[in-house]
Amino acid sequence: MFSYRHAFHAGNHADVLKHITLISTLQYLVQKDAGITVIDTHAGAGLYRLDGDYALKSGESEDGVRKLIAQALLDKKPAKASVGNAQAAIKNIAPALQDYLDAVTKVNRGDALKVYPGSPLMMFPLLRHEARDKLKLFELHPADFKSLVGHVQQLEAGRTVTVAQADGFEALKALLPPPNKRALVLIDPSYELKSDYARVSTCMADAMRRFPTGTYAIWYPIIPRAESHDLPRKLKTLAQQAKKSWLHATLNIGQDDEDEGLAPKVVIGPDGKALPAKRPGLRESGMFLINPPHTLKAALSEALPQVLEALGRGRGKGYAVESGG
Ligand code: SAM
Repeated sequence: MFSYRHAFHAGNHADVLKHITLISTLQYLVQKDAGITVIDTHAGAGLYRLDGDYALKSGESEDGVRKLIAQALLDKKPAKASVGNAQAAIKNIAPALQDYLDAVTKVNRGDALKVYPGSPLMMFPLLRHEARDKLKLFELHPADFKSLVGHVQQLEAGRTVTVAQADGFEALKALLPPPNKRALVLIDPSYELKSDYARVSTCMADAMRRFPTGTYAIWYPIIPRAESHDLPRKLKTLAQQAKKSWLHATLNIGQDDEDEGLAPKVVIGPDGKALPAKRPGLRESGMFLINPPHTLKAALSEALPQVLEALGRGRGKGYAVESGG
């Protein structure tokens, strides 16, 4: 079960959708004075090298944050993407996209795009010490847990951030409802195991019983598998049964020639040698939210066309933002 490593996928198009949504959601939630508990049930390693072996081998950030930054620079050469002046180059850049690029820029300090912040590091800078906001992180993989602990230590966040090597689905039960009665919960499993789909539904049914007013954000891959298509339907039913609002955003970057095996791309590693050709990867994913901010639909409807403009690459590309309740 421990074959999934997010380092292969960090900064890909799915992370772009997830993290734009997450930042926009949390920014809204911290506008209220009362403190909030943020729970990341599947936190990952916290920070990923984009010039490390894992990321270079998969090349996934090229069809994600790298292309987006290259587009922001109007450079369009992903290899030359840098973060230094990515702001403001996309004409009339959507605020939610700008905020996402800013978050990536901040952790890279210099010009080169060397690292990518995972969800814990995307969310931490938005938390308020004075409101006693809390960030609770769970990660099962021993190596990723160790990295996460190291990255969190560098934040010098004191008791604001806690990290546990535990099953995030199970751990969530004990945290709801939170003492401050406000929560954002990110559920972002790897779906390496087919059972993750059912665990998300069961976990969300339980969470809605314990704390129906929380804001829940669930990421999932859109792949030709019944469980993947059933999951958003099940989540929508849960929201409707609880009479709560929901939002469903999807992003599909489309299928290019390379995906069809017509033009395998050669990626050169740090030693100058060709890395193994990358396999056709995930093209589409979704974020499903229960009790989303009322501002999120407009924010994503403005940002996702710009994301698609940068990342879309052929047949099937598109995005959708639906909401209800
Ligand atoms: N949320 C992270 C981000 O956006 O940067 C990425 C998380 S990655 C998709 C999923 C992570 O969940 C992996 O690091 C995996 O090791 C971990 N994991 C798998 N099953 C878990 C479980 N039951 N509880 C907690 N973590 C788990």
